[in-house]
Amino acid sequence: MNRKQRRAMEARAKKGDNAEETLATQAALFDKIPEECTACEAPFDRTDREMVDTWRVVVREQDKDNPVRCYCPSCWGTAQEVLDNFLKSLPDEQE
Ligand SMILES: [Zn+2]
Repeated sequence: MNRKQRRAMEARAKKGDNAEETLATQAALFDKIPEECTACEAPFDRTDREMVDTWRVVVREQDKDNPVRCYCPSCWGTAQEVLDNFLKSLPDEQE
């Protein structure tokens, strides 16, 4: 084996390790994603790429029992609206 081949092999091994680690972390988290919207209980199919792309997953590490919540696009939109309205309803701070 010459130097070039060895370097290529080492690079490949290193890359492989990292990929595996990331995959394991994601898989552990992925496993905790609920199978329904936390708000409206619409079914969530985590094998559906489009759903995975459009739904929002929120991780709250301080919540040990239920750290991962997911929201369908419409609930997420509603939540943003409610938050927006709430922020708008707050009185401007007076000095
Ligand atoms: Zn929902």
